[in-house]
Amino acid sequence: IPDMFWMKDVNGVYQSCNRVFERFFGASEANIIGKTDYDFMDKQLADASSANDQEAMNSGKPLLHEESVDFADDGRRVVMETIKTPIYDAQEKLLGVLGIARDVTARKAAEDEIRSLAFYDTLTHLPNRRFLIDRLRRALAASSRHQQKGALLFVDLDNFKTVNDTLGHHQGDQLLAQVGKRLSSCVREGDTVARLGGDEFVVMLENLSQDNLSAATQAEVVGQTVLAVLNQRYLLEDSEVLSTPSIGITLFGGNLDTDIDEPLKRADLAMYQAKAAGRNTVRFFDPAMQAVVVARAALEAALREAIRLQQFQLYYQAQVAADGTVTGAEVLVRWKHPERGMVSPAEFIPLAEETGLILPLGQWVLNAACMQLAAWGRVTATAHLTISVNVSAKQFHKADFVEQVLSTLAQTGANPRRLKLELTEGVLVDNVDEVVAKMRALKDRGVSFSLDDFGTGYSSLSYLKKLPLDQLKIDQGFIRDILTDPDDAAISKMVIALANSMGLGVIAEGVETQAQRQFLAELGCREYQGYLFGRPLPLNEFEAQLGKTALAP
Ligand code: C2E
Ligand code: MG
Ligand code: MG
Repeated sequence: IPDMFWMKDVNGVYQSCNRVFERFFGASEANIIGKTDYDFMDKQLADASSANDQEAMNSGKPLLHEESVDFADDGRRVVMETIKTPIYDAQEKLLGVLGIARDVTARKAAEDEIRSLAFYDTLTHLPNRRFLIDRLRRALAASSRHQQKGALLFVDLDNFKTVNDTLGHHQGDQLLAQVGKRLSSCVREGDTVARLGGDEFVVMLENLSQDNLSAATQAEVVGQTVLAVLNQRYLLEDSEVLSTPSIGITLFGGNLDTDIDEPLKRADLAMYQAKAAGRNTVRFFDPAMQAVVVARAALEAALREAIRLQQFQLYYQAQVAADGTVTGAEVLVRWKHPERGMVSPAEFIPLAEETGLILPLGQWVLNAACMQLAAWGRVTATAHLTISVNVSAKQFHKADFVEQVLSTLAQTGANPRRLKLELTEGVLVDNVDEVVAKMRALKDRGVSFSLDDFGTGYSSLSYLKKLPLDQLKIDQGFIRDILTDPDDAAISKMVIALANSMGLGVIAEGVETQAQRQFLAELGCREYQGYLFGRPLPLNEFEAQLGKTALAP
């Protein structure tokens, strides 16, 4: 037989053994008979072996067990599967124990490999989705007993695709492996870090507080730690990269969940919420969120439809000079929703920006505004009027923005000198040089620029110096309480002084009262826009209003 075979008496003294046993222990049968395990095994193994002998003899039944044998001389570790059977003589007197042992090292290694492939991710050596689900199931069961909450943190890298595409898959893999290590460093023993695939990881926290709020706080702390740790630079083979995560968190357990998939779905949704909030951030799932997600999807679909069906209309709001004459209008888009009526841009512009729908919408606005400019240009009474068009960051940063504006001007026949583009500070935050180049290209043709909502963003004054602007627009937030809030007054005063010293025009938006206008005039601001002079109106009403106010000579 290919297996080891031996017999010992009741005292553990060898009575016989076969060739395989001889070979395994490197001794002849003659040298083994009459000895015990302690004569040729290390103490630990000999203790274990004789304990098994005793157990088999005491129970009177065959005993199957597995043991690892380490060979000190060549460092080899062998796993043996052993059956020890008590033996008796014809009178049922116990004689000793018969052992059979088989080397199962290779089979064990294969089993371990299969287990690892089935439950672990080969790249990061973290538990995979299947293992996570298994642990989550157990965690849910445990939690329904002791009522302590758990949390799932869904972690998705924000720019993994870029790393992979620019640095290659090899370094992409290195990044993922390092992310795995860092995540593992953020959790307590007993918590789980898993890789679902791609750049998606899940951290499962267990045994949090029973109370939802304190459990959420505990999870938030870990979420912030993960955020900070993953924000550190990564050293890859031949590059150093920054990679940020978006993290969605949900609580599970207690009696919250019956369906095993639900917590993962919630964490996933929360992660998307984190992405939508600008990435590199943590977002919690709460029941209201699902509703928000659904409503957003509906709004997005409706917005696409609206662009297809051209359900938009421009409203015109007068911009006036110091003497009250209308110098032009800002066009403000409205969505003529078939059921909801006029929808304010505040409701759909942010979504249009996120989804990229702002591009066709913005082009539509620009085109409509330029057509109107051209029409006004053909009539003496209105030929001097300017139109201000709001341009969103995404639109401005499009590679062909300059060409789009120029070709719209050319196609409509509008005078570029009457077109003013309103940018917000958000446009300026990245790539100032590109911004300046685009602005110059348009200014060369006569188009002018106003900085909208000035004072509400983060742009530094050094940016301002570089930009070829024509006008600053004081945000209505400062005008609202300008008469009562000394800070608002001081800021407005500062903006006006800044504009004057830089040779820029300045216009105040949101002017609603004569007192505000008076105050602004005293500070040196001579252009205004606001309900005091006219609300945003449909074209025909705006033109009617023009007829009543004194038009410039
Ligand atoms: P904005 O460009 O700062 O426009 C000024 C907003 O203030 C307008 O809101 C206008 O109706 C409102 N407003 C004007 N005068 C007064 C006043 O005296 N008092 C008060 N309380 N409010 C006043 P609206 O039309 O809802 O537009 C909101 C924002 O939507 C705009 O802010 C602009 O950022 C964006 N938007 C509007 N149309 C477009 C567009 O065609 N393209 C882009 N990209 N954004 C647009
Ligand atoms: Mg504006
Ligand atoms: Mg504004």
